[in-house]
Amino acid sequence: MKPTHIEHIGIAVTNLEESIAYYENVMGLECYAIEEVADQKVRTAFFRVGDTKIELLESTDPEGPIGKYIEKKGPGIHHLAFAVDRVEDSLKHAEKEGIKLIDQVPRRGAEGLTIGFLHPKSTYGVLTEFCGNE
Ligand code: ZN
Repeated sequence: MKPTHIEHIGIAVTNLEESIAYYENVMGLECYAIEEVADQKVRTAFFRVGDTKIELLESTDPEGPIGKYIEKKGPGIHHLAFAVDRVEDSLKHAEKEGIKLIDQVPRRGAEGLTIGFLHPKSTYGVLTEFCGNE
């Protein structure tokens, strides 16, 4: 497995609209989608920067993963997503290498993409996501 690029950088924010205004007005980027991912208890906003996206994550529930993250660590960079051809193969490969998985099997993420997370305890503190079309 070899990632083709950084698919996106996930950033935990406390106020989606304020953060969108920053990326639009200061960075000159355009928010092209806002999407709620109910099972992750987040609202997301997306910007393209070349082949990479910025994914803003606002919690819709303090008990959700982003709500808990912000309570513990505050807003900021939350995870790094690598674009891969097949998420399932990449998860299996990582597991074989002794990496602890958060997702044993791929699941559906924002934008209809297939995703799977590795545990930050196994990845030198970086919550790592594989992201692909299958
Ligand atoms: Zn992500």
